[in-house]
Amino acid sequence: VPAPTSDLFAKTAPAGPRVVPVLVPVALDVAYSYRVPLDGDAPVGSIVEVPLGPRRVLGVVWDEEPGGRGLSTGDNRLREIVRVFDVPPLAPAMRRFVDWVGRYYLVPRGMVLRMVLRAPEALEPEAPVRGVRRAGPPPERLTAARARVLEVLAGDFAWSRGGLVAAAAVSASVVDGLIAQGTLEEVWLPSGLPPGRPDPSYGARDLNPDQAAAAAALRAAVAEGGFRVDLLDGVTGSGKTEVYFEAVAATVAAGRQALVLLPEIALTAEFLDRFVARFGVKPAEWHSDVAPKTRARVWRGVATGDVAVVVGARSSLFLPFADLGLVVVDEEHDGAYKQEDGAVYHARDMGVVRGRLGDFPVILASATPSLESWVNAEQGRYRRLSLPSRAGAGRPPAIVALDLRRPAPERGRFLSPILAAAVRDTVAAGRQALLFLNRRGYAPLTLCRSCGHRFECPNCSTWLVEHRFRGVLTCHHCGHTVRRPDSCPECGELDALVACGPGIERIAEEAAELFPDARRLVLSSDLPGGTARMKLELAAFAKGEADIVIGTQILAKGHNFPLLALVGVVDADLGLAQGDPRAAEKTFQLIQQVTGRAGRSEAGARAFVQTRAPEHPVLRAIIAGDRDGFYDSEIAERRRAGLPPFGRLAGLIVSADAREPAFAQARALALAAPQQDEVTVLGPAEAPIAVVRGRHRFRLLVQVARHVDLQAFLRRWMAAAPAATGGVRVQIDVDPQSF
Ligand code: ADP
Ligand code: ZN
Repeated sequence: VPAPTSDLFAKTAPAGPRVVPVLVPVALDVAYSYRVPLDGDAPVGSIVEVPLGPRRVLGVVWDEEPGGRGLSTGDNRLREIVRVFDVPPLAPAMRRFVDWVGRYYLVPRGMVLRMVLRAPEALEPEAPVRGVRRAGPPPERLTAARARVLEVLAGDFAWSRGGLVAAAAVSASVVDGLIAQGTLEEVWLPSGLPPGRPDPSYGARDLNPDQAAAAAALRAAVAEGGFRVDLLDGVTGSGKTEVYFEAVAATVAAGRQALVLLPEIALTAEFLDRFVARFGVKPAEWHSDVAPKTRARVWRGVATGDVAVVVGARSSLFLPFADLGLVVVDEEHDGAYKQEDGAVYHARDMGVVRGRLGDFPVILASATPSLESWVNAEQGRYRRLSLPSRAGAGRPPAIVALDLRRPAPERGRFLSPILAAAVRDTVAAGRQALLFLNRRGYAPLTLCRSCGHRFECPNCSTWLVEHRFRGVLTCHHCGHTVRRPDSCPECGELDALVACGPGIERIAEEAAELFPDARRLVLSSDLPGGTARMKLELAAFAKGEADIVIGTQILAKGHNFPLLALVGVVDADLGLAQGDPRAAEKTFQLIQQVTGRAGRSEAGARAFVQTRAPEHPVLRAIIAGDRDGFYDSEIAERRRAGLPPFGRLAGLIVSADAREPAFAQARALALAAPQQDEVTVLGPAEAPIAVVRGRHRFRLLVQVARHVDLQAFLRRWMAAAPAATGGVRVQIDVDPQSF
């Protein structure tokens, strides 16, 4: 990753005219100039409210020369800052980060800032509430109820009265009695109580020698400070979490903040339990399911420094950390780190950038690192810390390929008899089984047996997917949904519709027929109950409260199922069919991760991988357990083709509500591309899904040599290109994940 260009960030003169540049969270790259009120002060980084056109918006005082890039209006037309909020200014490293993300992804910096100012409620002061804390010796008469209160109040923290009464399960009069005796005292608390401080030495556990060596290296990196990236490369179940917890502990002990990114934080209740076991308190969470009030508290606590550790989804990178000292990206290979809509960014890559700008260490953890990180480690830019074996008594499963061509399962069946028998044996032995298929719904295609009619989305160039549980056919791209009819809408034939191919609901149906007595769970994001239900069911499964779990890629995400002894991959070839050069890498990672859920606490686990292409390099590597050999050959391929990480890519999607204008603009763009050595512009070509939500899409791909400044080229190109008109939209995707 190239270093940011520093000349852009000229220092603001400390005194001088009372005019400051303010970046506002709208689609603008420039900071506008505003006057500071005569009786006020608005230092760089201050979060402010300013008039913008007829509206008032939030903004942040930026650090550029006033007028340098702002509105060139006369002083008399300058408008005044309305309000300076009483929260700490945005730290310099955060401001540089906003600049950097904007430049790298060619997104207006205002749009990046919008991701920072995500909890406006946090800016308003909260009313204080009545609280209590320990003030004197215990009372002479220590009843059981009083003892419970003191137990809750052990440690330095004040509690709200309500919270204390609930946590100790006592009546309010017990608390009043203790106040009267001087054991407790009343205090006023900000209503947004910061979470308790994680205790770095609370639940430190014994690490095995590999873990201990990696943890020591990470602690040293934290102690030294300064930017560096460590790739924690440990097989599934090797105890990576316990290792990076040591780096988190060291960061907290040094009084700084730590951020742990997880791809599916909303589903990983178990992770939070482990955090509590290690640090004595829950971490602050940040993801889309966090309630607004909690979000406001977390945001404010992060800005004031009261929150020491955040565990969050990709968006938590944009929290206003006062003093961030560590970023951990767990499951760093996971595609969920790429934000695809709105401001496009990759949280793993930006986590590394954040570390560079903040000058602190970054840890990337995975059993199946991305090829990018792998090459960075090979070339010495990252340090690799290896955990080659499972922690404790767990052993990786023995993996067997089941060739679906011979013998083929019966028509309409998708589990081979060998896999079915293995599931039965496993459940009979009191162990658990997992069936994995990375496809939602019942069937990906529905057609009429009588006339051949296929159900297509009217808005997209896709088939409608049947969701039998809900009795509908639905489009996975635009959400268009129709009730599943009884007769064919084309020829009117009754009961002639047939489901083609399996989705997870169909596997669940087959499992219900094959294993009627087993306790089964089905996990897919679009089944009723959503995330909340899945979270409960994953926890229940981890505790052994079900025999078989059947689900989509949700099951591949870092879960720890101690009793899981069998994994069945229903269709290993699903991801390989695409033309995408990343398909092999992604499929390998997915299969390796999902099979890696088995055998985490004991030996003897098995995995069956159903395939029609057992000779495919991905399958061969999975069966042979030869990750490194597979990576080597993929890397050689990428190097030969100049693909990432040996070259850099950007995709352009040109879309319009008709085919012609989209194509015309795409062609005009291709013709306007500046000629430059080691830069190739490919396309336009129809996008893999040519129509989405009624918009016709064409794609251009820019491929440049690694040392070429891709962003500079794109900027030159966009400046030279004819402006898009008539509702034509051009979206730039730097480092596309599929290409
Ligand atoms: P990974 O993230 O590498 O897949 P985890 O951190 O989830 O692995 O650990 C896998 C399992 O091993 C967990 O149940 C964890 O509690 C256990 N574990 C981790 N470290 C040790 C250790 N030193 N001794 C025994 N068990 C351990
Ligand atoms: Zn659609």
